[in-house]
Amino acid sequence: MIRLVRGFKDILPEETGLWQYVEGVVRELFDDFGFAELRIPIVEQTELFARSIGADTDIVEKEMYTFADRSGGSLTLRPEATASVVRAYIEHKLYAKDPVWKLYSVGPMFRRERPQKGRYRQFCQINAEVFGLHDPRADAELVLFLMTFMQRLELSDIELHINSLGCPECRPSFKKALKAFLAGRSERLCSDCLRRRDKNPLRIFDCKVPSCKETMQDAPSILEHLCKDCRNHFDTVQRALEGFYIPFQTNHRLVRGLDYYTRTTFEVLAGALGAQDAVAGGGRYDGLVKSLGGPDQPGVGFAIGVDRVMELLAGRAQEFEKRPDLYIAALGSQAQDRAFEWMQHIRRQKVRTEMDFQDRSLKAQMRRANKLGASYVLIVGDRELEEGAAVLRNLETRKQEQVPVRDLVSIVVSNIRRSRII
Ligand code: AMP
Repeated sequence: MIRLVRGFKDILPEETGLWQYVEGVVRELFDDFGFAELRIPIVEQTELFARSIGADTDIVEKEMYTFADRSGGSLTLRPEATASVVRAYIEHKLYAKDPVWKLYSVGPMFRRERPQKGRYRQFCQINAEVFGLHDPRADAELVLFLMTFMQRLELSDIELHINSLGCPECRPSFKKALKAFLAGRSERLCSDCLRRRDKNPLRIFDCKVPSCKETMQDAPSILEHLCKDCRNHFDTVQRALEGFYIPFQTNHRLVRGLDYYTRTTFEVLAGALGAQDAVAGGGRYDGLVKSLGGPDQPGVGFAIGVDRVMELLAGRAQEFEKRPDLYIAALGSQAQDRAFEWMQHIRRQKVRTEMDFQDRSLKAQMRRANKLGASYVLIVGDRELEEGAAVLRNLETRKQEQVPVRDLVSIVVSNIRRSRII
């Protein structure tokens, strides 16, 4: 038997109801917050990711699914969405219509990480990107979005961490302080971090190797090196969150795994997830649009890991399984023909209806109705047709009533609708 590729997964029918629910909630929320959907491709030129995410990052160094195209170019399955969204913003000159855009997208990402609980090689992200706004309230608005989303899903035990990574003005002084701190600690760093120390020392905050993590516990804080503008920006973000009573912690080690961030970064963590506890993360990337060949427009965004949200909601999957409102148990060929016709009319009125095509016994059909979790069963045989009345049974209350065949569709539909309201 050919099996699933390691690190990939199927999302089974008993889970997809919950996925659809979460996607519905987030789309509605994006509408409320004034975002438009952008659909981007799964494949991009490799260079796009190498240039935006950064050559010394784990993603670009080790995790990309890259392959040679038959025509010679190098292509990569997208490991994240921001780079593609920025490319599209530039390529379609969206900025010329209006520099300010609030865009979202939903879809799979690919990273060849070591698979474990909560970490897959294909995973789904919900992404939001805001272009053209320097104002710190744009950063706060995205965090508010995330927290509102978590609330709508009734997720608790959620922590919000925020940080500022400064800007090209103030970061060099922090890098200098960090290099000085690392200078005497070479023997504590892994070989990757030794290499990163000179070129990109901030990356070391992200290293998972225990001795590197331990070393960085005492590292200097970037928050003590922010320039006046970055400090004001960060203060305003914090004030905005406080104004909405959103609890947060500042975490000066939160650099995130990508190079393009400037100023605000944030992460949402859920204790219930265990080792892979980040549900969402994001930040500001003011230089990225320009560095990819676009105008000098700022950007800020986030990504939510949908698989991890699903993990948190797993106990509720059954609530969202799709069940028929009505199951028609038809006995005999005439009754089957009428039932088939009724079923189409009833469905047109948005009542979920199912029937059996196998002309099985009443007992077998009732068993199937129960198995599917139907709310009602309509029982009709050739004899009921002759007598002009079928039987509608409520499977929850066990109550049943006769329904005249002549007005069957409208009566059944209105009965079921009424029971939904109650
Ligand atoms: P990142 O793009 O790395 O900032 O990730 C944003 C969010 O995507 C994280 O907070 C996770 O929830 C999710 N995520 C990242 N990598 C994976 C993965 N390999 N498997 C599952 N979810 C992931």
